[in-house]
Amino acid sequence: MTRFSPASARSARALRDGAWGSRLSFSPKVFLPVTRLCRNRCSYCSFRRDPTGLDQHTMSPAQVVEALDAAVMAGCTEALLCLGDTPETGLPGYRALLESWGYASTVGYLEAIAHMALERGLLPHTNAGILSEAQLRRLRACNVSMGLMLESTSERLCGPGGPHARARDKRPAVRLAMLETAGRLRIPMTTGLLVGMGETAAERQDTIEAIARLHARHGHIQEVIVQPFRAGAGTPMAGAPEPEDAVISEAISLARTTLPVEVSVQTPPNLGRLAPAWGAGINDLGGISPVTPDFINPGHPWPELVALADEAATLGARLEARLPVYARFVETPGWLDPALRPVVEAAAVQQRERWAWLGARGAA
Ligand code: SF4
Repeated sequence: MTRFSPASARSARALRDGAWGSRLSFSPKVFLPVTRLCRNRCSYCSFRRDPTGLDQHTMSPAQVVEALDAAVMAGCTEALLCLGDTPETGLPGYRALLESWGYASTVGYLEAIAHMALERGLLPHTNAGILSEAQLRRLRACNVSMGLMLESTSERLCGPGGPHARARDKRPAVRLAMLETAGRLRIPMTTGLLVGMGETAAERQDTIEAIARLHARHGHIQEVIVQPFRAGAGTPMAGAPEPEDAVISEAISLARTTLPVEVSVQTPPNLGRLAPAWGAGINDLGGISPVTPDFINPGHPWPELVALADEAATLGARLEARLPVYARFVETPGWLDPALRPVVEAAAVQQRERWAWLGARGAA
């Protein structure tokens, strides 16, 4: 088994520096919590809401439009559509709500929201939990990339008392199967692992290796999130210990040295300290929103961008905006739906102009 050591971090940094240089990228995004209804009950979750007052937990079309327009004004290029798993299951009131807006299904609503985003020059990236192949095909046509956290390959964590004991969609086989299908469909995917929810170091390694095998088969993993567990108030794990910096750094370095260098390794800047993460080999910070909170970790606001750019510069890193789809998937035929290409190209131009000032604050 690979063991963490200063040498591991050095190797990870060398791989990062060789492939990504001093760039520390992030995606300016608007976070749309399309619905917070979910049939699972992960013990760490601060996002899910109980099925009462259904309309309060699902964004209306008017709320979506308002958020998208604010995102355009703030210079965002990504529209993150995020929701609980299979919200229609056992929630007839939710289905009736969608029908009252003219949508027959969650996927139909997601398609409509994606097109609202595209019309405004925003690039949709949907993380809707477990989807069938047919649903993935529909969303592929209107998303530049998609996401599904693997979280962990540990079956043990799905057992009694585990954080995934009441989350049937967190069974590793279910998530691996969907990531496999997404690869066959040539959908650029974001995935990752949750660090510190009770898994062992060996289980983290197994999770990263499983992602590496998926990517080896399909080449579709664009980024891997190393996401530290944070104990959310009011959740069953509110009192659980959070992972120390060393554990997070170990996972980052392991991801960087295990995955091919073209796969971006990211950790959210609102969930951990930047210096150790950069020192362990990250090259990316994921989405940061100037207009919406982090609905997944509501107790952890995103850092202010000027301060983040200045801190990055002290580490020898240069904060840089990026799109929610990586260049190789845009440039290589067969990945991006051709209808999305003009929107992506326009967003790239707009992003360069809007965020050029960051370059002046960064390291040389
Ligand atoms: S983490 Fe995701 S799947 Fe688990 S309960 Fe929360 S919304 Fe549902």
